[in-house]
Amino acid sequence: MGWGSTDNEHEGWAACVAPDGRLSASSSAERLLFPGISGRYQPDKMMPDYDVVPDNEIKGWRGQCSCGWRGDRWERVTSPADADLNHRRGYIAPDDSAHASTKVEDAIHNEWKAHIAPPEALLGLEAAAREYNRAGRRLAMTVAAAKAAGASWADIGRAVGISRQSAHERWADKLAPVNTEETQQRPPDGH
Ligand SMILES: [Zn+2]
Repeated sequence: MGWGSTDNEHEGWAACVAPDGRLSASSSAERLLFPGISGRYQPDKMMPDYDVVPDNEIKGWRGQCSCGWRGDRWERVTSPADADLNHRRGYIAPDDSAHASTKVEDAIHNEWKAHIAPPEALLGLEAAAREYNRAGRRLAMTVAAAKAAGASWADIGRAVGISRQSAHERWADKLAPVNTEETQQRPPDGH
């Protein structure tokens, strides 16, 4: 049960940390699977490229994301009295499943949310910019058509809600190629 971003580009979870620093591949499996074969542990029967590390050897937790992001490490302490969320220390009994406690997992989830906040915000920005550019192109085309039909810059400015001068400054240059073409099409000797 990982966490997903809106664009599905990021899937995060609170991974368990093995003694050699490897991170567990998933938060949902019953056995804690670690990518790679160290020789120290039993490979998994179903997934032979993964070591199964016993729960009591887990040293801590870290946020992990499918994009490669990793959060800072949380230490697993051996006594409940040493647990301290402010100092990234969490307690899980030695004979318990070594998944992070709810509090530690929530904290790691928040770290992951901060990690995806910029791409999530940029996602909306890209969509808005696409719409803005599309509308801008349509507006410029409509202005060109109005100009070609004989509308003045004052007419166009009034329709758009800006001054004659602003309309001219904004679009006159963009209409220049059309004007040049008209100029070139004029007979060279026709003054
Ligand atoms: Zn990510």
